[in-house]
Amino acid sequence: MLEITALKEILADPKHIVITTHHKPDGDAMGSSLGMYNYLVQKGHHVKVISPTDYPVFLHWLPSNSDVVIYTEQKEESARLVESSDLIFCLDFNTLSRINELGELVRVSSATKVMIDHHLEPEDFDDYRHWNINACATAQLVYDFIVNVMQEEHLVNKDVASCLYTGIMTDSGSFRFPNTTPEVHHIVANLITKGAENWKIHQLVYDNFSEDRLRFLGHCLLNNLQVFREYNTAMISVTQAELQRYNIETGDTEGLVNYALTINGVRLAALIIERADKVKLSLRSTGEFPANEICKKYFQGGGHRNAAGGQSDQPIAEVIEKFKSILPEYKSLLLV
Ligand code: 5GP
Ligand code: MN
Repeated sequence: MLEITALKEILADPKHIVITTHHKPDGDAMGSSLGMYNYLVQKGHHVKVISPTDYPVFLHWLPSNSDVVIYTEQKEESARLVESSDLIFCLDFNTLSRINELGELVRVSSATKVMIDHHLEPEDFDDYRHWNINACATAQLVYDFIVNVMQEEHLVNKDVASCLYTGIMTDSGSFRFPNTTPEVHHIVANLITKGAENWKIHQLVYDNFSEDRLRFLGHCLLNNLQVFREYNTAMISVTQAELQRYNIETGDTEGLVNYALTINGVRLAALIIERADKVKLSLRSTGEFPANEICKKYFQGGGHRNAAGGQSDQPIAEVIEKFKSILPEYKSLLLV
């Protein structure tokens, strides 16, 4: 792996740059990507953000969102951009499978690849890496990259600050997960000083849902929540028919799993959703419980210790049974 500080020289002259992030990007994925975008354009680079898929409407207000290319909607343009790029920034993911078909284009590209990420177990496809699993968000690492690696704090303008604030806010559970260190609060304070309107960003991201989405939430909590007290575990499952009944769109189910974790004593929360093509699992845990281990071992996935995900090609009823059948194996850890 090459020394990341070499990018100071590489980025000294205008380059063709692609920024990409994981599929179904969340607030950190888009906040990091557009934060980096709004930084790099100030340096005179030709920059494009390519998202592998669409992403929630509550992120569409992010500065320069209109310049994002969505791979599934513009495949040829995306391929052309990747092929003609000098540099590719890979933000908030570390295995190429997380960007679907784009992964192969990035793998074979001769561009210089830079990974900035905070997930475990990175794949070896990059040339430069700014990687730290203790970071609460990739946006924190992008901030560190701009301020400490590139030494260009003066280029953190209002747009950059707003994007990075969004990434840190969403990935830290609004500044409450254990990795929200004093340093994170210092960074966030600086982002507000540089123009991020914290109150407005919270409103844009969290108070911007459809009526259907709120009623769907009520339905899930009332009818679909199961609590397994003997395992300190709570689970919410959702069928395709329910998603359709409430006109659920990309992003509408984000955060739903966290409600299951708000029950006192619950250490493991699961959300099992019947998507059109597969069943998707989201797990959340508290303390030392390794949610990622369950996802990796049983559901072709992975993630962080306290927030992980996976999938299955089996019918949802079988996935639910499989999840329940795994709990005894983890009983001692769940009852700590
Ligand atoms: P979510 O439950 O919000 O979809 O995902 C939570 C975290 O789990 C993500 O930040 C990501 O690290 C991880 N994750 C989710 N789905 C997958 C997956 O299919 N594979 C892997 N390796 N990680 C996943
Ligand atoms: Mn992240």
